[in-house]
Amino acid sequence: MSITTKFGSALCTIALSVSVSLHASDLNEQLTKQLPSLGDLYKHLHQYPELSNQEKSSAKRLAQEFKRLGMTVTEQVGGHGVVALFKNGEGPTVMIRADMDGLPITEETGKEYASKVTTLNRNNQQVGVMHGCGHDVHMTNLVGTAKQLMNNKKLWQGTLMLVAQPAEEVGSGAKAMIKEGLYSKFAKPDYVLGLHVSANLPAGKIAIAPGYALANVDSVDITIKGKGGHGAYPHTTIDPVVLAARMVLALQTITSREISPLKPSVITVGAIHGGAKHNVISDQVTLQLTLRSYDPQVRDQQIAALKRMANGIAMSAGLPEELMPIVYVHEDERIPSTYNAPELATFVKGSIVNAIGAENVVEAEPVMAGEDFGLFGRTDENIPITIFWLGSVNMKDYELSVKEGRTLPSLHSSKFAPDFEPALYTGVKAMTQSAMDLFNRKESN
Ligand SMILES: [Zn+2]
Ligand SMILES: [Zn+2]
Repeated sequence: MSITTKFGSALCTIALSVSVSLHASDLNEQLTKQLPSLGDLYKHLHQYPELSNQEKSSAKRLAQEFKRLGMTVTEQVGGHGVVALFKNGEGPTVMIRADMDGLPITEETGKEYASKVTTLNRNNQQVGVMHGCGHDVHMTNLVGTAKQLMNNKKLWQGTLMLVAQPAEEVGSGAKAMIKEGLYSKFAKPDYVLGLHVSANLPAGKIAIAPGYALANVDSVDITIKGKGGHGAYPHTTIDPVVLAARMVLALQTITSREISPLKPSVITVGAIHGGAKHNVISDQVTLQLTLRSYDPQVRDQQIAALKRMANGIAMSAGLPEELMPIVYVHEDERIPSTYNAPELATFVKGSIVNAIGAENVVEAEPVMAGEDFGLFGRTDENIPITIFWLGSVNMKDYELSVKEGRTLPSLHSSKFAPDFEPALYTGVKAMTQSAMDLFNRKESN
C-alpha cells in the first residue's frame, strides 16, 4: 500500500484521506463487534486482580490472547512479564506497553463484577485486592489493540511488540524487564507507546502533551538521633522529637527558597515516628519522605539540601559526629520522570485526533505522580516514548461532579470505577490508529 506524505500533491492527499477514512470506518465496525468480548475480558481481569509481582494469571491470560492471534510469545520476562512479537514485513518496530498489577485496597464500587479477592499484607492482616489504578483497562486495551492490528495486517508493515509489564505499583517491573534484555533479546523498538486511565477525564476523551508527563519519585528515610532520658529533665537530653520538628519545617524551604520557582518540586514528609511514652525522651525519630520533580538536577538538589539541613540541625543541637542523622535514599525504588518525546507525542496526538476527533482530545498537564513507563525511554538505546491519558469517568458522573463542585474518586481510591466500555472503545481506536500511522510512517519518507 502506498501512502502519500503530507508533502504530496493535493490530488494524492485527497486520495489518501479517502482511503484512510474507508479503513477507519471498517476498523470502527470491527471494534464495535469486538467490544462485548473486550468487556468480558475487562470484567474478568477486574474481578481477579493480583498484587505486584504476583500477576501470574493475568500474564497467562494475556499470553493466551496474543498466541491465539498468531504472535510469538515469551512469558516470565523480568518476573511475570510477557513479550509478544509479530513481524509483518519491513518497517519500524512499535512497542505498546500495558501494566498488570492491582493494589491492596478493598473495593467499594458496588459493581456486580467487583473484586472479592483478599490477601495478607506485610503485617499479616487480611486486605482486599483491587484494580484501583485501572491496569485492567490497560491490559484489555492492549488485547483490543492487538486484535485490531493482527486482524488488519494488510494495513501496516513492521514489527509489533506488545509488552505486558508486572510490578508497576512498586516501581520494579519495567526495570526488571529491561534488565532481562527486553531491547536486546527481543527487539529494539523505534517507538514506545503507553496509556494510563485518567480519573478526572470523561470516557471518550484523551489528554496528551509533549514534554514531561509524570514525575521523578524518590523515597527517603531520615533517622534523626538524639540522647534520650526522662521527660521531666529535658536539659540532660538532646531531644530528637524537637530536632525532627525543626527538620520538618526546615525542609519546607528547600522548594520555596532553594529551587527555581520555574522548576516543579515537592517534598512531603509522609510519616514521622518517634518515642513510646509521655514522659520519656527517645533516642531517635524517623521520617519518611516522598520527593517529586521532573528535572534530574532538581532531584539532586533536593537530596543534597536535605542531607545538608539534617546535618546542620544535628550540629546546632550539639550532637557529636557519631550521632549525625542518617539520610537513606531508596535508590532501588527510584522512578525517573516520564518524558514524552516531543516529536513523537505531537505525531501521536495527530493520529488520536484523526481517530476520535479534535473535540475529544485535550492538552494534558504534567502530574506529580510517578510511572515506571519513563524507564523505557531512559536506556542507552534512547528510544522515543509517549504516554497518554485515557478518560474513564462516566460522562453523567463527570457532569454532575462539575455542577456540584464535587471531587471524583481518584486513582487508588476504593470507589474508582472506570466506565470501561466507552473508555476501551476510545483507547483501542486511538492506540490502533497511532500504531498504524507509525508503522506506515517510514514507508512514506
Ligand atoms: Zn497506581
Ligand atoms: Zn497505574
